[in-house]
Amino acid sequence: MKRRAVFMDRDGTISEEVGYVNHPSRYRVFPYSAEALRLLNQAGWLAILITNQAGVARGYFTETVIGEVHDVLRAELEKKDARLDAIYYCAHHPSVGDEPYRFDCDCRKPKPGLLLRASEEFDIDLKQSWMIGDRYSDIELARNADVRSAFVLSGYGRGEWEYQRSAWKQQPDLVAEDLLEAVRKIVASDKSTGKLLDPIAHGPG
Ligand SMILES: [Mg+2]
Ligand SMILES: [Zn+2]
Repeated sequence: MKRRAVFMDRDGTISEEVGYVNHPSRYRVFPYSAEALRLLNQAGWLAILITNQAGVARGYFTETVIGEVHDVLRAELEKKDARLDAIYYCAHHPSVGDEPYRFDCDCRKPKPGLLLRASEEFDIDLKQSWMIGDRYSDIELARNADVRSAFVLSGYGRGEWEYQRSAWKQQPDLVAEDLLEAVRKIVASDKSTGKLLDPIAHGPG
């Protein structure tokens, strides 16, 4: 049987949005993220990180630094008995920087390349899966990959939600204060009827 996944964005969603993370010392995992991941682990959902890191294409940091940052993230989660099943990132940019990172790839969000790759590697049922993020592009990504979308108000979320959503072509299936609330709602909806207990009409804003 195919598995279900909760895909999530990195900066602003599982960790603080601090601009380009060009050194692991700048990286700050949100205090509630481990609990959110543990809920997913226990409920049998795959938990997969999906992140654009075009700072590599721009020459701000190397892929080695991305690896070091993700080691910090994994260690923080592990301390609290939580885990990510996989991390996928796009280091490309269509028009900035040098080869081999400068090209019009199929994996830079909101393009669905990373989700599609994950769905093949883990045999994921995308229609039963979710994408959680703090930018409108994460909602577009969900739409492009045919997964459901949850928008969080951490990171850039509150500003985009309050000032920009009137211009959005797609609306999220779920809105939550943060990653933990989003995960709680997703896991709870799954335990009952598969319908959201707290649909967007009753969400914040
Ligand atoms: Mg983000
Ligand atoms: Zn890419």
